[in-house]
Amino acid sequence: MLLKVVSVGDPVLRKKARLLTSEEIRSKTIQDLIAYMRDTMRDSPGVGLAAPQVGESLQLAVIEDKADYHKNLSEADLKARERKPVSFHVIINPEIELLTPSDIAFHEGCLSLPGFMAVVPRARKVRVTCLDEHGKPRTIEASGWYARILQHEIDHLQGRVYIDRMQSETFATLENYQRHQKK
Ligand code: ZN
Repeated sequence: MLLKVVSVGDPVLRKKARLLTSEEIRSKTIQDLIAYMRDTMRDSPGVGLAAPQVGESLQLAVIEDKADYHKNLSEADLKARERKPVSFHVIINPEIELLTPSDIAFHEGCLSLPGFMAVVPRARKVRVTCLDEHGKPRTIEASGWYARILQHEIDHLQGRVYIDRMQSETFATLENYQRHQKK
């Protein structure tokens, strides 16, 4: 089932999402929500989707960066971004630690700001402690594009959107981004 993705301006995107209990994580409601969020992310398509983006103020996000999405990107772009495939997984109640300064600048977009892109400086390496979809504790060490995805999605769970962190003079329509930036 596909869910409606809310756009920026909806107050749910500005709320700090609430934590989930292990009991809730195992419930049919949350398991169904995870499946619907996965379907919605793949349909969009996107590499991450946070629960507030589908109107649920919960500390939960899904992530997946398929090799298929890299087909139209150059080898040089993939290498510069340290972008590699990331298999589908769920992060719940995440805590993030930036292991390097936020000095890696690339364009990113968001399903809640369709049709726009901007340069957002992010940390190259992060450590995330969270629960998985079974409520099991997990530590993720990530670098490159995967670290960027984690920072972007965990921001959503704190009520933040990339425009809060962007280099505002780089804000562009997708069309202009493709015309002027993409190589
Ligand atoms: Zn987003």
